[in-house]
Amino acid sequence: MKFESYWLDTVPAIKGLATGEVEGRADVIVIGGGLTGLSAALSLVKFGADVVVLEAGRMIGEASGRNGGQCNTGLLQDYLEVVKQYGEERARGFYTTFCAAVDTVERVVREERIDCDFARVGKLKLAAKPEHVEKLALTFDMLRNSVDPDVRLLSQSDLGNEIDSDIFHGGLLQPGSASLHVGRFGAGLAEASLKRGARLFESTPVTGIKRESGGGFRVTTHRGTLQAKYVLVATGCTTNGGPFGWIRRRIVPVGSFIIVTEPLTPDAMDALLPKRRNYVTTMNIGNYFRPTSDNRLLFGGRARFAMSNKKSDAKSGRILGDMMSQVFPQLRETEIDYCWGGLVDMTQDRFPRAGERNGMHYSMGYSGHGVQMSVHMGQAMADAMNGRPELNPWKDLRWPAIPGHFGPPWFLPFVGAYYRVKDRLS
Ligand SMILES: Cc1cc2nc3c(=O)[nH]c(=O)nc-3n(C[C@H](O)[C@H](O)[C@H](O)COP(=O)(O)OP(=O)(O)OC[C@H]3O[C@@H](n4cnc5c(N)ncnc54)[C@H](O)[C@@H]3O)c2cc1C
Repeated sequence: MKFESYWLDTVPAIKGLATGEVEGRADVIVIGGGLTGLSAALSLVKFGADVVVLEAGRMIGEASGRNGGQCNTGLLQDYLEVVKQYGEERARGFYTTFCAAVDTVERVVREERIDCDFARVGKLKLAAKPEHVEKLALTFDMLRNSVDPDVRLLSQSDLGNEIDSDIFHGGLLQPGSASLHVGRFGAGLAEASLKRGARLFESTPVTGIKRESGGGFRVTTHRGTLQAKYVLVATGCTTNGGPFGWIRRRIVPVGSFIIVTEPLTPDAMDALLPKRRNYVTTMNIGNYFRPTSDNRLLFGGRARFAMSNKKSDAKSGRILGDMMSQVFPQLRETEIDYCWGGLVDMTQDRFPRAGERNGMHYSMGYSGHGVQMSVHMGQAMADAMNGRPELNPWKDLRWPAIPGHFGPPWFLPFVGAYYRVKDRLS
C-alpha cells in the first residue's frame, strides 16, 4: 500500500516551475499553490498581470491534491437549515454559487483543454438510516421548489439501479455534480498559467509580509524577498506557518482520510456502481466515495477526529477499510493500494470566507466543498484585484475569530464525540 495521494501519484511532474532566487517585483504575489492560488494566477495572467505564486511545499500538494475529487453542485449544509438561518433568498444565492462554481471548473477544463476526466456524473446522497429518508424528502421538496428543479428523490427500490449495497434506505440525486482527476486538473491549471508567463515557486514558504509606505507589499521567503502591488493569501489551512495568525484563529483544520482500492474489472465496477456517480452518506461523520476512471473505488471519511500524518493515516485507513466492507461486503478481500489523509479548512458555519484585510486579499474556508469553490474563488479574487470586488459572492459574511482557538484545534476530539452521539441518536 502506498501512503500517498492516488491523484498526486498518477500525475506527471509539472514542467517549467521557477527555480533560483525570489527577488524583484511582480504585480501580484499569490501565497499558496493549491487550486485557489493556481486558479487566481491563471485569471490574473489572462488580465495581463505579472504573477508569482509562492508555495511552501509542492503545487496542489495539500488539500487540492488530496481530496475526493467530487466537484458537487449545491451546499454542504442541509438546504432546509440554511433557509431557516438565512432566509430563502440568501440560501438560494449560496446554492446557485456552488452550481456556478461547477460551471467555472467545466469552463476552465474546456478552455484550457485539461485532460482530467471531468464528467457530470451527479451526486447521490444516501440515507444511512430509515429516519433520514423523511428529512431527505423534505429537503428534496424545498430544493425542487426553491432552487434546483433537476434534483430527484430516489426510493430504496430505486437504489437497486444505483448501488450494489443494501444498507441504504433512499437517496437524493443532484445531477449537475461532476467528478474529475484533481491531480491532472491542478497540474493543468498550473501549466496554463506557466504558459502565459506566471512564475511558480515550490518549496518556498512565506515567512513575512510587510506593507510598504508607498503602497504595495514586501514578501519574505528563505529564497529572497519580492515586492508587489497586490497579495492574495490562498493558504488553505495555513498550518505551514507564516504570518497568518489572523486566519489561523478563524479556520479549523480537520483531518479527513481516503483509501483507494486496487483496480476492479470494468464488469465488477458496473455491478457495484453502474452510474459511476459521486456518493455521500447522510451521517454527520459520514463517508464519501466514487469510482476512479481506472475502476478503483475511492472511499473516504472522517474516520477519526485526528490530524493527518503517516501513522495517523495508516490507523484511519484501517478504520476506513472496515467502513468500506460494511457498505460493500463484496470488497472485503479487495486490496487497498493507496491510503492518505489531508486537512479540510473548516469555518465555524462551514461557509467560505473571502475578501480584503489590511490591503491583502484572501479566500479560503471551503469546509470540504472546495474543489469547485476554490477554482471559482480564485477567479473572483482575480476580479476583485482587477477592480470588481462585487463579484466576490462571500463578501458580506462576517468572520469573527473562533473563541479559544489560537492554533492546533485542541477541541476536535470533543466535537467528534458530540457528532458521534448525534449520529447514534438521529
Ligand atoms: C481528504 C480531503 C477530501 C476532500 N474532498 C473534497 C471533495 O471531494 N470535494 C470538494 O469539493 N472538496 C473536498 N475537499 C476540500 C478541498 O480539497 C479544498 O477545499 C480545496 O482544495 C482548498 O484549496 P486551496 O487552494 O484553498 O487550499 P490548499 O489546497 O490547502 O492549498 C493551500 C496551499 O497553501 C500553501 N501554504 C500554506 N502556508 C503557506 C506559506 N506560509 N507560504 C507558502 N505557501 C503556503 C500550502 O502548502 C498549500 O499547498 C477535501 C479535502 C480533503 C483534505
